[in-house]
Amino acid sequence: MKQSKLFTKSKKESPADEQSKNAQLLIRAGYIYKEMAGAYVFLPLGLRVISKIKAIIASEMDAVGGQEILMTALQRKELWEVTDRWSDENVDVWFKSELKGGQQLGFGWSHEEPISEMMKQYVHSYKDLPVYVYQFQTKFRNELRSKSGILRGREFVMKDMYSYSTDASEHDKFYKDVIDAYMRVFKRAGLEDYVYVTSASGGAFTEFSHEFQAISEAGEDTIYVDKSKKVAINDEVYNEKTLKDLDLNEKDLEKVASIEVGNIFDFGKMKSEQLGLTFTKEDGNTEYVHLGSYGIGVTRLMGTIVEIFNDAKGIIWPDSVAPFQVHLIGLNLDNADVLKKANDIYDVLSKSGVEVLFDDREVSAGEKFADSDLIGIPYRVVVSAKTADKVEVKRRDSIETKMLEVNELLSELKK
Ligand code: ATP
Ligand code: MG
Repeated sequence: MKQSKLFTKSKKESPADEQSKNAQLLIRAGYIYKEMAGAYVFLPLGLRVISKIKAIIASEMDAVGGQEILMTALQRKELWEVTDRWSDENVDVWFKSELKGGQQLGFGWSHEEPISEMMKQYVHSYKDLPVYVYQFQTKFRNELRSKSGILRGREFVMKDMYSYSTDASEHDKFYKDVIDAYMRVFKRAGLEDYVYVTSASGGAFTEFSHEFQAISEAGEDTIYVDKSKKVAINDEVYNEKTLKDLDLNEKDLEKVASIEVGNIFDFGKMKSEQLGLTFTKEDGNTEYVHLGSYGIGVTRLMGTIVEIFNDAKGIIWPDSVAPFQVHLIGLNLDNADVLKKANDIYDVLSKSGVEVLFDDREVSAGEKFADSDLIGIPYRVVVSAKTADKVEVKRRDSIETKMLEVNELLSELKK
């Protein structure tokens, strides 16, 4: 991608009403555009990051047997009335609307009800189970406060997976597989040292639900972390009994602010009982299906990465989710030889499968370097009248520069 053609440009300032670091940096660097509080447009750079995050999540969900589907955002009121989750007293984030004829409907903030209703058409016998389906959906939530940029959208992308199992032991096995899969997702997204499996309230069937909390000052949650055991407790369930149940010691715990990037629930047979989702067991008896629900905030995860990896100059993307691998900075491009060399390097790298953003704009070197630091691509590669047959290579997370031949750069990138 040539930066002179890239939609859009970086900016000196972010909107005056934007308080969060993630949105300030992402707006200034040209990743997102603020439509209104809690609603952001993903521009080409931003969408590339979202696509990378989705691909990581999808590969890990597929690896545990998940199959991708896409539910509708429009939801029937009647379904949610059955489970008593339609009223604003019970669910305070609904966006509701109505059809021209007056029939009420809702915009999906979660999907357990419609998906379980759908399963009634497809699950009849133990032979039809287990089923693991997931989707990437734009969720709508009428959040009271939306001041944390893409960490708390009123419209945001979630990956939600649902497991339908014959019994608790089949469910438990999958639930544990998903915990491991989620930890692999966060590791691959660069957050290995930050995300902790956290016992929290909210299990409908079990004592706890499990959250995946990323340590960050920007977080709205408070957790107690046991760094050696790699687990944590949400302060909402922090008490002597929980510590004992989880075999944790008060003196090993550190209190920190954190961002909830994922949350998994065991619903037991509750939803299936409410909605009438049953199957015939091997012995001929009828039983309710066991439901698990597994969410990751995709856009929140992107915001979390920005909150954690930045410096005074801008964003510092982990390689795995960066919009491009290489930011090729061309200087002195009015010199025909340098221009040719820069174009050749751009072609060689692109043809080798390296994702390159080539800064071919007619702006000063200072502006190019400042934008490069703001945008945060892992490798900065400079070609100029001074670099002769080599290129100057610097990683965004380091101050060290080195002169490399293009094939040396290629082999470094392949590592
Ligand atoms: P929170 O407590 O932060 O409001 P939640 O517990 O209501 O979140 P869940 O229903 O568990 O959220 O949703 C699953 C995941 O979706 C969360 O773990 C989080 O990563 C993400 N998420 C939830 N609400 C939002 C939001 N308003 N904007 C962006 N991501 C969100
Ligand atoms: Mg949650």
